[in-house]
Amino acid sequence: MTDTIMHTADRVITATYKRFPVVMERGQACTLWDTRGRRYTDFVSGIAVCNLGHAHPRIAEVVARQAGQLVHVSNLYYTIPQTELARMLVEHSFADRVFFGNSGAEANEAAIKLARKYFKDAGQPERFGIVCMEKSFHGRTMATLSATGQDKIKQGFDPVLEGFSFVPFNDIDALKSAIDDHTCAVMLEPIQGEGGIRCPDPGFLQRVRQLCDQRGLLMILDEIQTGMGRTGTRFAHEQYDVTPDIMTLAKALANGLPIGAMLATERVAAAFGIGAHASTFGGTPLVTAAALETLKIMDEERIVDRARDTGTYFKDALKQLKLRHRCIAEVRGRGLLLGIQLNRPADRLVPVLMDKGFLVNCVQGDTLRFVPPLIIQKDEIDALIHCLDEVLTF
Ligand SMILES: *Cc1c(COP(=O)(O)O)cnc(C)c1O
Repeated sequence: MTDTIMHTADRVITATYKRFPVVMERGQACTLWDTRGRRYTDFVSGIAVCNLGHAHPRIAEVVARQAGQLVHVSNLYYTIPQTELARMLVEHSFADRVFFGNSGAEANEAAIKLARKYFKDAGQPERFGIVCMEKSFHGRTMATLSATGQDKIKQGFDPVLEGFSFVPFNDIDALKSAIDDHTCAVMLEPIQGEGGIRCPDPGFLQRVRQLCDQRGLLMILDEIQTGMGRTGTRFAHEQYDVTPDIMTLAKALANGLPIGAMLATERVAAAFGIGAHASTFGGTPLVTAAALETLKIMDEERIVDRARDTGTYFKDALKQLKLRHRCIAEVRGRGLLLGIQLNRPADRLVPVLMDKGFLVNCVQGDTLRFVPPLIIQKDEIDALIHCLDEVLTF
């Protein structure tokens, strides 16, 4: 059965994904089982998505109930779950308004469109440029890949959109020089995830904020990977004492159901008037009910505090590991967004760890990324560390 599924998939699905030869069938909290009955501890979480673990009973129940009541009606009408979710997001953040889409890329598309529209409405149509960071990742649609600072993502899709420029992350002088009369915004991730778990230098984000204020630019933070408690605060920017004008969320927002959200202050969001932007599926009752329940569970069970504590424990363990293994060049990250950069290719280790029952993933070729569900237990971390200890000796 397993081989048939893999062969069929390889024949009928576009070959865009390089997959490991397993068929995942079932999950429970931080554990996954494949069709051969093998079990894995999940340090990937569907790439920082299933923050409350797999098959959470409360989310399963809410989704089933909402599916039996109302799945979709379009944004021609008000619905209760969408309204409640937006209210909760506004209450929990700097933002005054929310636009819902279905993915991270769509949230970033909305942010890019809003930044341009804001300056059009302000009578400065020449300001449409956005300065982004090298090694950034903002998505795969035409606008978001144009904002992404990695050539491999753009290969074959020329011409990319006009108006995006790039500076090295953490280089405030380069940013200053890149800003000109056409610039409308600076867009960046507080911590670069796909870029290799790159943290901002002390004061960097604050200096970006100051620069935006001085030059009258919007600061767009892509918190699609860093948001929703992943880094030990609800949003990563809280740790760096900055407030953006626009923030994007997706990944963990509904614990696995597809959703994206663009949040903005009233001043900026005012540029999104009637008809300015839309999405058929954006904020359906089904998905927003799941997101609302996710936020409630996070509050009730103090998941953010837990991610911070467990993250400290995990990072300390990784630092201990570094003392024993010369191949570890650096341990990076915050909360449960952690990575170890090796001084050699790291992608070969992923199937080795998988054979031993641990799912991890590799970014930038040399960095192992650890993004387990935020409910991961210390003994599960201990088991991974023990396994890494064995594997890294080779
Ligand atoms: C995953 C990710 C995206 C893209 O999200 P999709 O849902 O795949 O479109 C954008 N930005 C960051 C920082 C991400 O991690």
